[in-house]
Amino acid sequence: MTKTALVTGGTRGIGRAISLSLKDAGYTVVANYAGNDEAAKAFTGETGIATYKWSVADADACAAGIAKVEAEVGPIDILINNAGITRDGFMHKMETEQWNAVIDTNLSSLFYMTKPVLEGMRARGFGRVVNISSINGQAGQLGQTNYSAAKAGVHGFTKALAQEVARKGITVNTIAPGYINTDMVAAVPEKVLEGIISKIPVGRLGEADEIAQAILYLCGPNSGFITGSCLSINGGQHMF
Ligand code: NDP
Repeated sequence: MTKTALVTGGTRGIGRAISLSLKDAGYTVVANYAGNDEAAKAFTGETGIATYKWSVADADACAAGIAKVEAEVGPIDILINNAGITRDGFMHKMETEQWNAVIDTNLSSLFYMTKPVLEGMRARGFGRVVNISSINGQAGQLGQTNYSAAKAGVHGFTKALAQEVARKGITVNTIAPGYINTDMVAAVPEKVLEGIISKIPVGRLGEADEIAQAILYLCGPNSGFITGSCLSINGGQHMF
């Protein structure tokens, strides 16, 4: 039977590429988004993929959104926790609001989104959860104490949950992208971006589809022995 994948932030950037690659591979795909209705409408028009709007930073909205998707589309076999935001600022100037928004959207969302789908995955004896972290959660980045902390937390979450559900046929992995050519990176000032690219051994930004292809592999039926791991896809910028 066709498996169903839910991609958070699945209408733009990296999430969009993930949604498309899973659809092309034959999965039934549902894309969640936060508020950009115009982008979501255009996305559905171009791809035929259904979209569902709710904030992954809101626990109740996640529970209700997932229940709606499962009622309308079917049980979720694959969850890609991709939605993320930045609210940069040096620590001494960072507002509590900036801190909370980034922690809620990039980290607490993993709990809010994953818990409601786990029971079904356990019962069916199959599940794939892939969490999107960042090079800046591995190496740290000035101006991003909030984002670096949230993304570092994603790695701990992945490793702990992977151990809890391994015997139930559920794998949980992290992908840590480097700098990828999306709207998020387009917001970085040009001079700063030039400096970043000069530090990438491959000599360019990554493309969203280069992340999507790795996700496709992790979601496949032959990847059951890969769990609790992190794949860094960063053009060689950070190796460890
Ligand atoms: P984009 O800003 O291009 O797209 C973000 C997507 O997430 C949009 O679909 C947006 O919805 C959605 N989103 C944002 N907040 C929420 C929310 N509260 N609830 C539901 N959906 C939400 O981001 P990228 O594609 O660049 O990034 C995707 C992921 O990859 C993020 O987790 C990011 O941290 C990570 N990452 C990105 C890197 C990069 O270089 N681009 C590098 C490393 C990691 P809407 O359209 O409605 O706003």
